[in-house]
Amino acid sequence: MFENLQDRLGSILNNLTGRGALSDKDVSEAMREVRRALLEADVALEVVRGFTDRVREKAVGAEIVKSIKPGQMVVKLVHDELVALLGEEGVAIDLNAAAPVVIMMVGLQGSGKTTTSAKIAARLEKRDRKKVLMASLDTRRPAAQEQLRQLGEQTGVATLPIIAGQSPTDIAARAVQAAKLGGHDVVILDTAGRTHIDEPLMAEMAEIKRRANPHEILLVADALTGQDAVNLARNFDERVGISGLVLTRMDGDGRGGAALSMRAVTGKPIKLIGTGEKMDALEEFHPRRVADRILGMGDIVSLVEKAAENFDAEKAQTMAARMKSGKFDLNDLADQLGQMQKLGGMGGIMGMMPGMGKMKDQMSAAGMDDKTFARQLAIIGSMTKAERANPDILKHSRKKRIAAGSGTDAAAINKLLKMHRQMGDMMKAMGGKGKGGGMMRAAM
Ligand code: GDP
Repeated sequence: MFENLQDRLGSILNNLTGRGALSDKDVSEAMREVRRALLEADVALEVVRGFTDRVREKAVGAEIVKSIKPGQMVVKLVHDELVALLGEEGVAIDLNAAAPVVIMMVGLQGSGKTTTSAKIAARLEKRDRKKVLMASLDTRRPAAQEQLRQLGEQTGVATLPIIAGQSPTDIAARAVQAAKLGGHDVVILDTAGRTHIDEPLMAEMAEIKRRANPHEILLVADALTGQDAVNLARNFDERVGISGLVLTRMDGDGRGGAALSMRAVTGKPIKLIGTGEKMDALEEFHPRRVADRILGMGDIVSLVEKAAENFDAEKAQTMAARMKSGKFDLNDLADQLGQMQKLGGMGGIMGMMPGMGKMKDQMSAAGMDDKTFARQLAIIGSMTKAERANPDILKHSRKKRIAAGSGTDAAAINKLLKMHRQMGDMMKAMGGKGKGGGMMRAAM
């Protein structure tokens, strides 16, 4: 799911991330492409328009943190907007009500309602240790009630015994009653579908809602139907009122536009997604994770967040100048080590940057890892100002004193000096490519 959008947005934004400066024209052009990518992914036009407008507005007004490239900032803005579109946090099925909690499943025929009912029931039983009762209210298709009974048997979830000739609303009432008597925590009502929305269907849903008083009304919609699914959600919500959405066949939808539009159009959260025919192919929907997946931008986003929080831009600028001129002394190294600790250490920084895994290996092979950083900060802390500014004066007697002061030995000090030289060389090499901004910028 989302593969196409991921590819498109990925290449559009990749184009931006490397650049040192962005003009309004760059941003507008990128937004035009983002808009096209979203439309191709079948996101509703009204949603797309608002999306790119908001990103552009923020991009123009954004205060660019100095250690972050403007393009990376745009990635972050697009990401934030995706999250806003999908709803901030994942919303789980709400079972916070007096037992038995009634969950009413609605949707068109073939959308995956019955399958999803059984998936949810099985999960509530297994993971949440709830006692669940399922009932099929589909009296129109005789096979429907039998289908649910079989799924119940297969998953070990109780189903309401079938009584021929009962109306859907009577079955609903009987299910709630049976759940009360049987000590069930949850009742799942699998309602009848139609091939399309019509008045009798809506009237039936409203009547069942009145009789069974469901705590959750989940609309099951087929993600493959794209815009139709969005319209369906709007209709059901207006007529019956829904509390959440389940999107099925997400395993078959490479575009994902329905998922991106539904929340924005209905204001109702996507609670779950179906990702296959098997009973365990049900996933919780986490907007943030989905937005990350769609962008596929490593974790540039959290890098920007952390950097914005922690990075002292002024210092970085001076440091960059020093690096380029080859004046990277041990004071600077201590500063950098401190900054890195703030950003979660070497692993934290490298892990956040796509393609930096290899570099991290190289650095730890050269003795640059978090454990040694702490020791090295202690060593530098034991040096005099003059020694830090000019490590060349560090001869045997000075090293001995420093080793004693920092609780290390001469070998550790030599290692630090070697690392300092290597880092200086590396930064000079990388610093030459970009302009300014400290190690973070140099490394990207
Ligand atoms: P209902 O008419 O709405 O009750 O739909 P069903 O539950 O009978 O599902 C119709 C078909 O869709 C069945 O073959 C299901 O196995 C299949 N199905 C349901 N959910 C998913 C899903 O998330 N992914 C895939 N690939 N198939 C699904």
